[in-house]
Amino acid sequence: MDLLQTPIEYLKGVGPSRGELLRKELGIHKYGDLVQLFPNRYIDRTRYYKINELQNSAAEVQIIGRIIHIKTVEFGKNQKRLVATFTDDETGQMELVWFQGIKWLKESLKLNEKIVIFGKCTLFNGTFNMSHPEIELLAEHEKSLRSAMQPVYPSTEKLANRGISNRVFTKLMQQLFLETQAAFSETLPDYLLTSLSLIPKKAALFNIHFPKSNELLAKAQFRLKFEELFFIQLQLITKNLLQKHKIKGHAFTQVGSFFNEFYQNHLPFDLTNAQKRVLKEIRADMGSNAQMNRLLQGDVGSGKTIVAFMSMLLALDNGFQACLMAPTEILANQHFVGLSELAERMNISIKILTGSTKTAARKIIHEELENGALQILIGTHALLEDKVKFKNLGLSVIDEQHRFGVEQRSKLWKKNSIPPHVLVMTATPIPRTLAMSLYGDLDISVIDELPPGRKPIQTVHRYDANRLKVWKFIRDEIAKGRQIYIVYPLIQESEKMDFKDLMDGYESISRDFPLPQYSISIVHGKMKPADKDAEMKRFSEGKTNIMVATTVIEVGVNVPNASVMIIESAERFGLSQLHQLRGRVGRGAEQSYCILMTSHKLSSDSKTRMETMVQTNDGFEIAEVDLKLRGPGDLMGTQQSGVLNLQIADIVKDKEILALARNHALVLLKKDPALQLPEHQNLRTVFLEMTKKKNIWNYIS
Ligand code: ADP
Ligand code: MG
Repeated sequence: MDLLQTPIEYLKGVGPSRGELLRKELGIHKYGDLVQLFPNRYIDRTRYYKINELQNSAAEVQIIGRIIHIKTVEFGKNQKRLVATFTDDETGQMELVWFQGIKWLKESLKLNEKIVIFGKCTLFNGTFNMSHPEIELLAEHEKSLRSAMQPVYPSTEKLANRGISNRVFTKLMQQLFLETQAAFSETLPDYLLTSLSLIPKKAALFNIHFPKSNELLAKAQFRLKFEELFFIQLQLITKNLLQKHKIKGHAFTQVGSFFNEFYQNHLPFDLTNAQKRVLKEIRADMGSNAQMNRLLQGDVGSGKTIVAFMSMLLALDNGFQACLMAPTEILANQHFVGLSELAERMNISIKILTGSTKTAARKIIHEELENGALQILIGTHALLEDKVKFKNLGLSVIDEQHRFGVEQRSKLWKKNSIPPHVLVMTATPIPRTLAMSLYGDLDISVIDELPPGRKPIQTVHRYDANRLKVWKFIRDEIAKGRQIYIVYPLIQESEKMDFKDLMDGYESISRDFPLPQYSISIVHGKMKPADKDAEMKRFSEGKTNIMVATTVIEVGVNVPNASVMIIESAERFGLSQLHQLRGRVGRGAEQSYCILMTSHKLSSDSKTRMETMVQTNDGFEIAEVDLKLRGPGDLMGTQQSGVLNLQIADIVKDKEILALARNHALVLLKKDPALQLPEHQNLRTVFLEMTKKKNIWNYIS
C-alpha cells in the first residue's frame, strides 16, 4: 500500500526532470497518482492495414512495410520537410512526412528494414501520407506486450514535445505494475463486489491499462467508474446527513393568516400542479426543525417567483423575516415591483436594497431590519454586507444560483445563530443527474410544468443575408401591437468590439425603424442603473416598440406583450444562454417567435446549437445537448467544482452508473452512517483520505 506513496521520480524511467513535468502537467506526484491516470481511449493494434485499405479518416492505423526512399524537400523560405516513400510490398506506396527532427531522422531511418508505422493518414494529391508516424522495428514490435485494446493516455502538448509519448506512458505503466507487484488493495466491501458483479480493484486497474479482452476492459471501466462516483456520493450524502443532524433550523409549524389569506383571496391565478407539489415539499422541509437547503429548479417562465413568495409568507406566519437575493439590479427590481404588488394587498412591509440605494434610505432599512419592522427584503449582493443584520431571518431565497458562488450562499447562513432556511432557485435546467452530483448537499424540487395557455415559442434560424425579410416580419408584428427584443452578445461587458457591434446595431435599427412611427429602447451594461431601469420601464409600459439590449436582459425581465426575440450573432451564445433569452418571450397569450441570426460561417457545434434551439423548447433537453457539446466542466458556474474533475466517469454518459452509485451509497450510509462496521474499514480509509483533500469540500459549502 505504502509503495503507492512513493514519489514518482523514483519510478525507473522517470527521474527528476520527467518527474517535474509529470507533476506540473498532469498533477502526478506519486506512484498512486500514475496508476490513476486512465486512458482516454483505446486503439486496436492487433489489426494491420494494407495501403490499399486506407481511408481518409481520423482513425489511427498501423501498417507493416519498409522505407524505400528518403528525400529532403525545401518549401517556403528556409523550410524543409523530410519525405520517405513507404511500401507494404503488396498493395502500394505512401509517404511519411516529418517537419521536425529532420537531421536526426535522416541519420537513423534505415532503408529496407521491416518496420511498423503507426499514425493518422491523410489523402493529399492522390497519395496517402502519415506525418510524424510512430515507428518501431518489426522485430521489437513482435516482442512487446500488446493487446487488442492499446491505451491512449491523456497528455499535454508540453509532455509530447518533451518526448513523453504515449509509448513512454505505456512503458512507465508497465514499470509501475512491475515495481509494485500490482499490490493495490481493495476499496469496496466484498458484499458490494458480489451483489453488483464488480471485478476486484487489482483486476480492474490491470485491465484498464492492459486490457486482456474487450469484455474485461468493459468490466474494468464499469468497476472504476462505479467506485469513483460511489465515493463522491458517500461524501456528498454524509455532508447532507451531517447538516441535517447538526444544523438546527427554525421549525415553521404555523400555516397562518398571511399564507391562507393570500391563497384564498389574492392568488392571481391557479397554481400548477408542479407548483403545488413543490410548495408542499418546501413546507415539509421548513416545518421540521432542521435547516432547509433546497434547490428549486424550473424552466424559464415556469413560475418560481410565486413559489418563493408563498414560502416567504410561511416565514412571516411564524414571526420571521425573509429575503430574496437576485444576481442583478434589474432582476432585483423586477422582483421588487412584482412582489410589492402582492405584499401590499396584505400590508406586508417590503423594501429593496441594492448598490444604488441611497445612504439615507439604506440607514432606514438597516434599522427596520434590526427592529423587525421590515418583513421582506429584496436585493442584490448588497444583502451580504456586514451592516445588513436581520432581527430574525427565517428564509433566504436566492434566485439564479449559478451566478453566486457557494461562499456567498453560506455567507447568508451565517447571519443568525440559527441559520435561515435556504431556497435556491435556478432557471438553468441542470439535468437531474448532474444536479445530484453537483448539489448532492441540497435537496431538489423541480417545477416541470409550465402555466397553462402558453403557446410554444416558434424558433427559426436566419442568416444575416435575410435581414430584410426579418425586418419586414418585425414591422408586421409591431403593426399588430407587439413588442420586440433585439439582443446582441456582450460576452464581457468590457469588450470594446462587442460594444461597438451593439452601438452599430442600434444605429442601423434606428435608421430602419425611424421616429415617430417607431420608438426604440436600449439597455446595456455601461449604463447607470437608474437609466437602465428607466429604459426598461418605458419598454415594459409599452412606450417603446423595440428593446435593443445586451445580455443584461437575460434573466428575469417580464414583458408579456413582447412576442419576438431576435438574437444577433446567435452563434456566439451558449445553448443555455440562448434558451434563457428565448424565455423572455412567450409570456403572453399571443404566438411568440425567436429568430436566431447568424453569419453563414458556422462551426459544426454552432450548427448543432441552432438546430437544437429550432427543434425543442424543452430546457432539460437543451441542457443535455449543452453538456454533451461543452462537457460538464463548462456548465455555467460549475467551473470551480472540484467534484467534476472526474478521473474516469462521465456525468453525462454514465448517468445510470451515477444513479446506481448514489442508491448504494444511500443504503450503506443508512445502515452505517459513520462507516464503523468492520466490512467498511477499507471504505473508511479511502473516505478519510479523500476528505483530507480540501478541494472536494471547497465548493460544496
Ligand atoms: P420563472 O420561473 O422564470 O422565474 P416567473 O415566476 O417569473 O417564472 O413566472 C413567469 C410568468 O408566469 C409570470 O408572469 C407569472 O406571473 C406567471 N405565472 C406563474 N405561475 C403561473 C400560473 N400557475 N398560472 C399562470 N401564470 C403563472
Ligand atoms: Mg425568475
